[in-house]
Amino acid sequence: MIIDMHCHLDLYPDPLTVAKMCEEKGVYVLSVTTTPKAWKGTASLTDGNDNIQTALGLHPQLAHQRSQEIELFDSLLPKAKYVGEIGLDGGKGYKNYWRQQLNVFRHILKSVSAAGGRIMSIHSKASASAVLDELLHVEGTPILHWFMGNNGDLKRALERDCWFSVGPAMTATKKGQELISLIPINRLLTETDGPFAKMYGKPLMPWGVVESYASLGEIWGVSLEEAKYQVYTNFLQLLSVK
Ligand code: MN
Repeated sequence: MIIDMHCHLDLYPDPLTVAKMCEEKGVYVLSVTTTPKAWKGTASLTDGNDNIQTALGLHPQLAHQRSQEIELFDSLLPKAKYVGEIGLDGGKGYKNYWRQQLNVFRHILKSVSAAGGRIMSIHSKASASAVLDELLHVEGTPILHWFMGNNGDLKRALERDCWFSVGPAMTATKKGQELISLIPINRLLTETDGPFAKMYGKPLMPWGVVESYASLGEIWGVSLEEAKYQVYTNFLQLLSVK
């Protein structure tokens, strides 16, 4: 089984077909959502398929528009096994809404903590250090998705027992490869971030995650098959933690 630990299934033009193909191709998908309002409908797309799990999220890039949905988030949380996409974005165009983002993120982490913790897929673009500050005293198992923090951030993330999900868009860059080489092999998961993330000019499909196994194999000095098996083992370990 191949693992796409961060994919926006509901944002493909035809999510049902994509879900069906994932089943055929043996892809596990953590289907993240960007607003609490999207959670129910997205989850219903894959009812009965245990290999596609839908995470409850409120994307930091939408925090300023959707902060009123935080109540809906809280009311859905007891039913949601996974949380994401959540986090902070310090990039251009979003930094202006930092205060709103921080309020939403803090509220979510507090709710998750009170609910006993969740596996959480977390966005930390241009905000790794601030995200790690927020994760210090809360319950839950963070997966830092497409993490591009500096070495100090990485050290703190490992001290906090974070996991990392990396995809073809990251393994294709030198900086991404360098960062991956510093992450313990047993902390790493794979993702696509499709359809946002693109490869060869096209939106990545969940099964496109295989592209990252070859790169991981190279970085780790193992075969593609061994890299795939390592990620699957990590995935099982993650589920056993929470
Ligand atoms: Mn995403």
